[in-house]
Amino acid sequence: MISSKLPNVGTTIFTTMSQLAAQTGAINLSQGFPDFDGPQGLRDAVAYHVANGHNQYAPMTGLPALCEQVAIKLARSYGVSVDAEREITITPGATQAIFCAVQAVVRPGDEVIVFDPCYDSYEPSVELAGGRCVHVQLSANSFAIDWQALRDAIGSRTRMIILNSPHNPSGALLSSADLDQLAALIADRDIYVVSDEVYEHLVYDGARHVSVLAHEALFQRAFVVSSFGKTYHVTGWKTGYVVAPPALTAELRKIHQYVSFCGVTPLQYALADYMAAAPQHVEELPAFYQAKRDLFCDLLDNSRFTFDRVGGTYFQLVDYSQIRPDLNDVDMALWMTKEHGVATIPVSVFYQTPVPDQRLVRLCFAKREETLRAAALKLCAI
Ligand code: PMP
Ligand code: GLN
Repeated sequence: MISSKLPNVGTTIFTTMSQLAAQTGAINLSQGFPDFDGPQGLRDAVAYHVANGHNQYAPMTGLPALCEQVAIKLARSYGVSVDAEREITITPGATQAIFCAVQAVVRPGDEVIVFDPCYDSYEPSVELAGGRCVHVQLSANSFAIDWQALRDAIGSRTRMIILNSPHNPSGALLSSADLDQLAALIADRDIYVVSDEVYEHLVYDGARHVSVLAHEALFQRAFVVSSFGKTYHVTGWKTGYVVAPPALTAELRKIHQYVSFCGVTPLQYALADYMAAAPQHVEELPAFYQAKRDLFCDLLDNSRFTFDRVGGTYFQLVDYSQIRPDLNDVDMALWMTKEHGVATIPVSVFYQTPVPDQRLVRLCFAKREETLRAAALKLCAI
């Protein structure tokens, strides 16, 4: 019998709920992905590059033209100057980028602080490096950092802190004051930061994403990760990038070159073309997704779910305490899928120690208007 290196890992909740949605015919608002395609010009560009001989290995660090476009975007979005050659690495998805960043830094016995509710890939990445996650809970209602809890969690073994803003599943955003406070807290310590910013362009109500890239002190010790999948509505392309100072990038690349070697070539050509042709795409995204959030939330105002509109991401948390307080959130998600035809994600699965009596499920609103209307009709009938 093989002895598992990840004995606590099973099928992820995203796979489970998407499969259940498919089996039951429920509208799938569980796993986060759009039910519409990425821009036509971007998809045409992939077809073009596949047809025109861009089908062999890309450079290990990423296609130079794409790294250049990422640098241009970062300058436009955050006013930062990043060295495309020495500080940007293209990876097959943000998940792989996070994995490589963790492997590059964490050694057996090290501790990595994560904030619960936290994305599911962080802990296995840490465990495979021989490290241990120390879970610090975000505050129950606002999902803000509890600074005292963080101070208490930092110890002599702490090697890394993983941030995620805009935050999955809550949609909460870190502020520049948060980054200042974190920087002050770890200033004299040998602690690295992974900043998972895959939803960087999905922020609403006029707010601006506060990137670790623009925080000089934190960036010196950070791996900043993003995903073209979220930004260009193509989650299945599994293409992302990491930005880190040259010394950190060099270590990350040592791992990346043996995990995958490089990202998918025609996708990188297509993304480079499209980013050059449509730099406004990222600037138009907040309004695009805010309209979806508002349509969905306006419709849900007529339901018995309660919620505050999210500030970022394409997820909306809703509280169902007025509907089935007797059900825990996993049972609620199953019941909603099977009996009411809408698949959701229970929030407790993002916690090491779920919050007692929390009654929240996550709904993905990256959907066409007709899907959101059909789902809202069902949700209002519960
Ligand atoms: N981090 C978070 C918080 C996410 O929600 C996702 C989306 N699945 C990822 C990382 C991974 O992104 P990718 O699909 O590019 O690997
Ligand atoms: N990030 C996506 C979500 O939170 C899921 C990605 C996956 O299925 N691993 O829904």
